[in-house]
Amino acid sequence: MARDPKYDILFEPIQIGPKTMKNRFYQVPHCNGAGSLRPGTQAAFRAMKAEGGWGAVCTEACSIDPEIDTTPNTLATLWDNGDVINMRHMCDSLHAFGCLAGVEMWYGGGESANLDTRDIPRSSAEWTSDYARSAYSHVCDEDDIHEIQQMYVEAGKRAVQAGFDIAYVMGSHTTIAMHFLSPLTNKRTDGYGGSLENRARFWLETLEMVKTAIGDECAVAVRLAVDQILGADGIQAHEEGIQFVELATNEGLVDLWDINICDFLEWGEDAGPSRFYKANHQAPFTKHIRAAAKAPVLNVGRFTNPDDMVDIINSGQVDIIGAARPSVADPFLPNKIDEGRVDDIRECIGCNICIARWERGAPLICTQNPVANEEYRRGWHPEKFEQAKDSGSVLVAGAGPAGLECARVLGLRGYDVHLCEADGEIGGHVRDVMRLPGLSEWGRVVSYRQTQLDKLKNVEIHTNSPMTADSVLTYGADKVVICTGFTWNADGMSHVTMAPIPGVDASTAQFATPDQVMAGKEIGDRVIVVDGDGYFTGVSLAELLADQGKQVSIVTHLPSVGQMTEYTLEAPNLHRMMHEKGIVQYTSTWLEEVVPDNLVKAKVFNLYRDGYERTTEPVAGELPRKAGTEFEILEADTIIVVTGRSANDGLFRELKERKGEWQAEGIEAVYAAGDCYAPRFMADAIFDGHRIAREFETKNPRRPLPMLRERMIWGHDITPSLGT
Ligand code: SF4
Repeated sequence: MARDPKYDILFEPIQIGPKTMKNRFYQVPHCNGAGSLRPGTQAAFRAMKAEGGWGAVCTEACSIDPEIDTTPNTLATLWDNGDVINMRHMCDSLHAFGCLAGVEMWYGGGESANLDTRDIPRSSAEWTSDYARSAYSHVCDEDDIHEIQQMYVEAGKRAVQAGFDIAYVMGSHTTIAMHFLSPLTNKRTDGYGGSLENRARFWLETLEMVKTAIGDECAVAVRLAVDQILGADGIQAHEEGIQFVELATNEGLVDLWDINICDFLEWGEDAGPSRFYKANHQAPFTKHIRAAAKAPVLNVGRFTNPDDMVDIINSGQVDIIGAARPSVADPFLPNKIDEGRVDDIRECIGCNICIARWERGAPLICTQNPVANEEYRRGWHPEKFEQAKDSGSVLVAGAGPAGLECARVLGLRGYDVHLCEADGEIGGHVRDVMRLPGLSEWGRVVSYRQTQLDKLKNVEIHTNSPMTADSVLTYGADKVVICTGFTWNADGMSHVTMAPIPGVDASTAQFATPDQVMAGKEIGDRVIVVDGDGYFTGVSLAELLADQGKQVSIVTHLPSVGQMTEYTLEAPNLHRMMHEKGIVQYTSTWLEEVVPDNLVKAKVFNLYRDGYERTTEPVAGELPRKAGTEFEILEADTIIVVTGRSANDGLFRELKERKGEWQAEGIEAVYAAGDCYAPRFMADAIFDGHRIAREFETKNPRRPLPMLRERMIWGHDITPSLGT
């Protein structure tokens, strides 16, 4: 199909310094965990976006010198010629599709722990970094400043050697340029502190030096956190934020403005989770910048809808659409708009699992796009699927996230797929999740797959079709994939004590599992949410019930409620929400037992009530510490048990027990996928369904095929060799 003319403006070329970008789709710098250490992964991940139509694609933050490293998190580096060679591979891969390559040159200053290099970073002022866990830095004198500025110049030259078209002097979030600019982190009394002009001096001088050195060959970009969301303590968008843009513009130092907000400790204000922030949420802070900047301006805002993109260009907010997460969820977003296939866009759901994985020191993954970061090591392509040579019929039992994805990929590969769902609608537990406060966009997991499955003539969906072992065996399918999901434990069973909580029974009126809450079970006015899960479900239910006017407490064994949300960047605002809505938190606390009465009485104890000294003489059958006995009684009308999950694996296990009957019924194999194999993050369940469908013809698709590993092999040349 042809592109809708209303989107033409998105495909107009634009000049960025000495370079021309072919359209308005720009992947802003974002981490993927590959850095310069995994050049194959880095290049293939970014090149997939180039193939998908993005006009420019950038690295993540790229350290300009060993003086700055982020171990255990992996970022790009441009320290030496080896890095140049590795990054050149990425640039060449982008250029093959007519896509510009950008590098975000970065010196983190006082927010770098340097756990690998052990160098001491230099900074604008003296402070202890919370982000880098108690890291200290050396306060720059003028010699130090000039050395760091020269590091930018040298890294810029290496960027040109590598083939980059755009080089940033990054200043968003936490970097030395921002540290100098912000009154929060600049307490200097020399020519680099005090007035805005003085605080801007480090950045402006650096830009001038970089532009002089490489500006003819490479566009010079600035990523500016135009508002630190700190009020008068920091840079504010309508005050010194725009004034800095005017200063740099007057000097003609910037070819591209990449405008965002916030500082690094709360970078969820920039990479806003959909729970709190919808598309273009930064506009109130960013939309006035373009009027002051003579160079092109871009913003991010989790743009997935081309109508929104056209609107923000036509409104004068930006010249270019910036995107990180939308480009991860769908590397082919631009091409799909260009080809009139807008309904095929796989929209980001704003869950931030991508960020969470990186924050934990691992490569990025994506809930919506299971292929993200698998392009190189597994050789996957998000839009291309190997046709099955000998396609037969497959029964997929269960249309939750894993079942939907498995059916989609099997369908694309040419199998005759029957997707049978016990409920009246597809989606599994996502249908409950999307009704939790703020999580409606998570429903895109289902709506995208519904749209895609509807287009596949070889996939049938049967709702209201619960499967039993007998009905599976006699269905007539050649192969079977069981995707029957998980169930929340009704007895309080969890890993915390590896036992049920005595007295808890969600088959009675005073207790409820998350599924029962969402199914409408009556909940009393005073509620305790027992959260052994530690991610979004417990805290979301607490909010849901608080919004209904109930008095809510949440008990968790973890040191903070919803600890996993610290990685997804949701935690700070979730804590503000709990504070604002009066949700009482009991942390490092668990339940000894619950006594149901008129009110349920929960006997709770602090996990650290036992003595801190181990007893010297072990006694059989006794804890080798002074056993704590303190407890507290909490009363409630209802206890919600968000403790542990159990795989709904009964059907799979029964089918395995009846393996002797398979051949007679014409069944070659039965596999389990997703949460019914092991409950896990939604992204990982979807990945499981996807991978099994990709590797469906192997002897045992439950065992992944080997992946390419990017590593040094002692005494051997590293492959692939240059030029091959
Ligand atoms: Fe979007 Fe979630 Fe994928 Fe990140 S993991 S790109 S937030 S869908």
